[in-house]
Amino acid sequence: MNGNTNYDWLLAHEMSHMWWGNCVTERFWTDVWLSESFATYSEAIWMESYGQAEYLNYVVNNIMKPYLYSGELFPIVEPETPAQLWSATTYEKGASVLHMLRMIMGDTAFFTGYETYFASHSYTTALTTDFIEHMEAQYGDLSWFFDQWVYGEGYPIYDISTDWVQLGSDWQLTINIGQTQTVSNFFTMPVEFHVEGTGADSVITFLNDTQNQEEIFIIPFEPTTVEFDPDSRILSTAVMGVEEHTYPPQGGVGTMYLGPNPATLSSTINWQGTWNMELQIRIYDLSGRIVRKRVLEPSSRNLDLAGIPAGTYLVDAIAPGNVRQTARLVILAN
Ligand SMILES: [Zn+2]
Repeated sequence: MNGNTNYDWLLAHEMSHMWWGNCVTERFWTDVWLSESFATYSEAIWMESYGQAEYLNYVVNNIMKPYLYSGELFPIVEPETPAQLWSATTYEKGASVLHMLRMIMGDTAFFTGYETYFASHSYTTALTTDFIEHMEAQYGDLSWFFDQWVYGEGYPIYDISTDWVQLGSDWQLTINIGQTQTVSNFFTMPVEFHVEGTGADSVITFLNDTQNQEEIFIIPFEPTTVEFDPDSRILSTAVMGVEEHTYPPQGGVGTMYLGPNPATLSSTINWQGTWNMELQIRIYDLSGRIVRKRVLEPSSRNLDLAGIPAGTYLVDAIAPGNVRQTARLVILAN
């Protein structure tokens, strides 16, 4: 506690574990997202106390983007390896799922469901199905949502085109929306478009439930721009600034970890799915200073640590397509 607010997110995360993790504990490790996604989403709820823009900015930049850049494409429940347990999927994708669920359910139903789930499972354990049951009690069937986002893998990659023509005194707007992801299944979601004209605007919402769907709307003004998902309600590559950059390798990648860790003179990067790729490596100390930069050639994964003082560091790795992960590394005196 030093008077600045740089670590608010960490305090919010750890303090919220009093509720999510300590008071309500997942029955099995395979449901660990019930602790970690909830604690990560608590960071965003803390930021919301500063305002709606702060909340959304945090969700997009600190929760959605780190997951989208991670290249991970495996389901949230029942992770298969220890690395998957402590992955961007468990923390950031799960928190994105809670954000999306809240957008769909609305605040009242969402937080009432949260409260009854907490009250029913305090000082005992819970399963993913318990959480779903409490949320459905407030909203109705949500199996379609949880099947896609929690039991399924990945996220939608939207392909959208819009066109408008004058029709008497109105304008006819045509929206075409498709999904191009190859690893995951089709995602059924309510989608939102912001139509802006000179001195007028309108929000259009419809359910995107078929591939290559075409919807036609009559607008009483001439559109100038049509923006998809302006409030980032969906975890997709349409999230601001992600679209042009992220190309997860076919099948996705695993979660990066280093071994040995703690290490002395060297360590090895283990990152399933990136073995044949060139990696850009930066090692940061905890004040954010770069202490080492390396380019690792395909199939070379040894990281030379000689000369770096003992301490805790962050190893940041970037694979082609801007797929990116960070892992903690402890270096012992050498
Ligand atoms: Zn945590």
